[in-house]
Amino acid sequence: MKRTDAKKQLSRREAFRILWADFRLCLREVPEIVLSKLAVCIFSAVSPYAGIWFSARLVDELAGDKDPQKLILWAGLALASAAIISLASALLDRKFYAQSATSWRRFERIYTDKFLRMDYVKCEDPAVRQHHSTIRRNMEGPGKGIGNAMDILGGLVSAIVSILAGIGMALSFFQSRVPPSGGALQVLDRPAMLILAAGLILLASMLSPALSNRSEQIQASYAGYHRLANSLFGHFSGLGAKDKIAADVRIFRLERISDRFNFDKEGIFLSGGIYAKLFRGKVGLLAASGAAASQLFSGIVYLYVCLKAWAGAFGIGAVTQYVASISRVASGVSELLSFAGKVRSEAPFIKLGLDFLNIPEEMYQGTLSVEKRRDREYEVEFRNVSFRYPGAEDFALKNVSLRFRVGSRLAVVGENGSGKTTFIKLLCRLYDPTEGEILLNGIDIRKYDPEDYYRVFAVVFQDYSLPAFCLRQIVAAGEGDPARVEECLRKVGFGEKLDALPDGIETYITKDYDKSGVDLSGGEAQKVAIARALYKDAPFIILDEPTASLDPVAEAEIYEHFAEISGDRTAVYISHRLSSCKFCDEIAVFDHGRVVQQGSHEALLSDTEGKYHALWNAQAQYYNQ
Ligand code: ADP
Repeated sequence: MKRTDAKKQLSRREAFRILWADFRLCLREVPEIVLSKLAVCIFSAVSPYAGIWFSARLVDELAGDKDPQKLILWAGLALASAAIISLASALLDRKFYAQSATSWRRFERIYTDKFLRMDYVKCEDPAVRQHHSTIRRNMEGPGKGIGNAMDILGGLVSAIVSILAGIGMALSFFQSRVPPSGGALQVLDRPAMLILAAGLILLASMLSPALSNRSEQIQASYAGYHRLANSLFGHFSGLGAKDKIAADVRIFRLERISDRFNFDKEGIFLSGGIYAKLFRGKVGLLAASGAAASQLFSGIVYLYVCLKAWAGAFGIGAVTQYVASISRVASGVSELLSFAGKVRSEAPFIKLGLDFLNIPEEMYQGTLSVEKRRDREYEVEFRNVSFRYPGAEDFALKNVSLRFRVGSRLAVVGENGSGKTTFIKLLCRLYDPTEGEILLNGIDIRKYDPEDYYRVFAVVFQDYSLPAFCLRQIVAAGEGDPARVEECLRKVGFGEKLDALPDGIETYITKDYDKSGVDLSGGEAQKVAIARALYKDAPFIILDEPTASLDPVAEAEIYEHFAEISGDRTAVYISHRLSSCKFCDEIAVFDHGRVVQQGSHEALLSDTEGKYHALWNAQAQYYNQ
């Protein structure tokens, strides 16, 4: 694998623009965390100075007059300030950590909301999914992505405050003069000497961040390896216990592949791996040189301050004050310098996140609300609708015109790939037609507020999935009304099973979150999925071959039973098995994206030249068993 991330080095200007955009996003999405973060940074930058100042006074008094009253005063103030600062800092930290514990979820939610707003076509786009998965892996592994601006800018604020407070405390160092008794050491007061000392201090304090910036840049350019290692670990961890592949692992001994990633010493994080090599080589050398540079710097500061004290410019207490203050100014300068480097190394990761959030939302979002009719009198019409998936050559639906009213039962039948699911997805406005229009009560569905429009439909998709929660939460898609949940489950024929469950509707499906959870059979899970659709109490209820894994007889039973319970709702059934749908009022036959026939079962069957007749005969062997 190449260090492709290295090529993504952005210009300084672009990097700062991205950082600012991320900071604005944080202010909008998590303002309270931003404020806490800034408060923690400012406080932690200022707080050491109180201790430094009171301790210096105490040492001065000890070295000078030793007045007991003053000693008690300075010691008391030093202790009190330390206690107050520790308490305030603990309180601030507690607040910040409590808030930031949720920040990961909040950023996760920003992406979920984006997926929900995004055109559905794009949600299905493999490139978009890949983009999101890279973002996730950057967040989980190297911990990089949107939200990092908060940390970087927090560091900047803390550095600036540190520098200002330190300069304030060290000001008198430059004003204090070596007395004539200092002899030759009076040279220390010469401006040239001061400039030389300041220059040396500045140089040493710049060296350290310059080296660590370089080290961070190198590490960031290897983030691709970090992501790969994480996803391999995610893929291979707990291999023997993974539901769907546990049998394959035994038969094909797949753990041997996993061992190669987990134990081979060339593995990314292992002793012969890329990270070990980096830390033994360039990165390690840079870190060691950085540490040496900061020691060199401390040496210069100590030497200069001590020489001035020795020469009699100030008392012994001031030595600690000046050394600490100058050190803090210098570490502030270091932080300031590393800030610019950090911005450049973090910006590409933040950019990935922002680019994702900026994916255009192109579907027209109407504002009309769907009339809530007590009589549920809704009529849907497809008018010359054609649809082509992005990038596909052929139309999945071609010139479909169809009208159906509420209360009727419509079956959509046809061979696999004939366009049935596409038809449903267009009806639910997951996609917009490439040509033609779909009308609800005479109005183009694009004009409705999408959220309001979605309320009209309850769909059991072919590949529905039930979360591993308790039955009540699954059916109600939330906390829900227990009585209604139970009613819906009984309506769909789940009553007998429910009575046998020890915790009734509070029973968890699967044992993932509850030891007493139960596993449901395909048929049972399907009933729960239908109960969820019933609970939504939408005027339209759609079943898109959710019974694909069942045999034709079981499917027919479920569909016929469902006909009784769907009541006054409009029900749309999709199946490639004709027998399941013969009880419907109206059947639309799809073939290669077109509606080739429409009518009742009897009428369609009587047309011996028609597609329905041909399909029926082809499938008859199943029904006559
Ligand atoms: P059915 O539900 O009748 O099996 P579909 O509506 O799923 O048929 O598919 C109709 C046609 O559209 C098929 O040719 C299928 O390959 C194509 N198709 C379905 N989904 C997509 C997609 N996401 N991208 C591209 N083509 C698709």
